[in-house]
Amino acid sequence: MTGTRRPLLAANWKMHKTRTEAREFVEDFLPRLKRTDADVVLCPAATALAAVARALEGTAVGVAAQNMHEEQQGPYTGEVSAPMLIDVGATGVVLGHSERRELFGETDAALARKVPAALAAQLQPILCVGETEAERDAGETQRKLRHQVQTDLAAISVDQLPGIVIAYEPIWAIGTGRTASPEQAQEAVAFVRALLGDRDPGAAERVRILYGGSVKASNAEELLAQPDVDGALVGGASLDPAEFAQIVAAAPARG
Ligand code: PEP
Repeated sequence: MTGTRRPLLAANWKMHKTRTEAREFVEDFLPRLKRTDADVVLCPAATALAAVARALEGTAVGVAAQNMHEEQQGPYTGEVSAPMLIDVGATGVVLGHSERRELFGETDAALARKVPAALAAQLQPILCVGETEAERDAGETQRKLRHQVQTDLAAISVDQLPGIVIAYEPIWAIGTGRTASPEQAQEAVAFVRALLGDRDPGAAERVRILYGGSVKASNAEELLAQPDVDGALVGGASLDPAEFAQIVAAAPARG
């Protein structure tokens, strides 16, 4: 059952786009955005957050950072805090992306602090979880998802749960051109929802859970049609405004 969950389509630009390129994207993308029944979020690099937030002023499109430190300020060279992200106009933050976990040592312990810190600052967290190919082959997908969901959300109350977005992103499908089948995506996303349901079934029905991993205009419709898949976190294909607009249009109307 899909309840009243609005579709959410998020564009993770990773380490791409200068401010000028980001503004050009927004200029091209906005006229292509035809629907008001889905939430759309752009996640530029930190250097382009302010420019993108300004370019989107007066629109319903949100802006999310790709990472955040859990402290509000302090001796953490190279890091950015939630109040700083709010200051440049961010409305959300991607947390625990597999590239941050795998390449930069992001831990579940840190995420357990980052998720509540984001909520406390009024930033919507988009928490990424997912298994490696070896874990899937070994039948460890559910164990991995359970560990990540339970640990990363340990400090989150039932009342706070619906304010969180989770992105199920199988690591073997990120940036590889390999996509989970619609059935695999549905199964894993439903499992994540069931984990949340162990805490509170009503809250679990309200949490939006996205699929991410080589989503493109050509495969978005069948993935987004799955009943528990509430949207997509899109990397490579979101760099092109026309293709990302097609992906937004492919999400079924719900609610
Ligand atoms: C991502 O960066 O979250 C992602 C899913 O990337 P891609 O769509 O390129 O696989």
